[in-house]
Amino acid sequence: AVTWSPFLQQLKKRKYPWVQLAGHQGCFQAGEHGTILKKLNTNEQKCYEVLENDNLTAFIPAARGEVVKENGEKFLQLEDLLAPFDSPCVMDVKMGIRTYLEDELKKARENPKLRSDMYEKMVDIDPSAPTPEEQELRAISKPRYMQWRENISSSSSLGFRIEGVKNSNGVSSKDFKRTRTWEQVQEVFQDFTSHNKAIMSQYVSRLKEIRPAVENSKLFKDHEVIGSSLLFVHNSLGKTGVWLIDFGKTTPLPKNIVTNHRNKWVEGNHEDGYLFGLDNLISLMEELLV
Ligand code: ATP
Ligand code: MG
Ligand code: MG
Repeated sequence: AVTWSPFLQQLKKRKYPWVQLAGHQGCFQAGEHGTILKKLNTNEQKCYEVLENDNLTAFIPAARGEVVKENGEKFLQLEDLLAPFDSPCVMDVKMGIRTYLEDELKKARENPKLRSDMYEKMVDIDPSAPTPEEQELRAISKPRYMQWRENISSSSSLGFRIEGVKNSNGVSSKDFKRTRTWEQVQEVFQDFTSHNKAIMSQYVSRLKEIRPAVENSKLFKDHEVIGSSLLFVHNSLGKTGVWLIDFGKTTPLPKNIVTNHRNKWVEGNHEDGYLFGLDNLISLMEELLV
């Protein structure tokens, strides 16, 4: 599916189409002066408040606070990371071994809801995936769908997955649901960077700055970081950047819980595998430099 968001951004009197690689269409609007508006989520808003005094400032979009529209709709105003780029190539990499919160799992168990929309999505990707019982019900639970997506992609095994890409040819794709192996991911990155080692090398350097910043981050110290992405952006002039985005599902850990974002997840330990994924991403991209 090609996801062009419906608005144009104004940049130095020049208009450029803004690219959205994940999420629902209606969640984003153009903001003033190189900003975008993302539908307000109090979870995410609180994360950006913690991030105000964190060491990740250079690696996240600047947050300019809340904007309330005439109809009462609330948005978070964020720096548009694409604004400084001419014809950017963009990739959204969703980090972590898990894409749902422990809390969501618990709630789903206490109050199981069967979703026919998720069954349909599953069948669209792989008609043989539902079990005979699921086929009879024509419905599955949300955690079942999410876990299945994690396993057919690289989330479970590598701790990240490619959500969407817009390449230099202008074509965007979200067709990476079954990109799972180390080699398959490498191929997508080679394609994304057009085999340009200078760009790949800048990406690796940037990720190596991000890693210690995440290891020492206040936000990561006491949050379960789920569904957050690294946004990779470059253009043909060799300008590059990587930022942490999407804290909509980043949630405070229960009081007595400590995580290192690298350990294996077992239910109850709240590990999210963010750094496990980042380690793998760095090794995988570094291999492409030799
Ligand atoms: P989901 O939870 O499904 O991933 P979401 O509604 O939480 O979606 P985000 O993941 O935050 O939305 O953003 C969706 C897409 O919008 C990203 O993949 C990226 O392409 C674009 N985007 C988000 N934030 C920015 C930003 N600050 N600057 C430029 N592009 C952005
Ligand atoms: Mg996202
Ligand atoms: Mg999100």
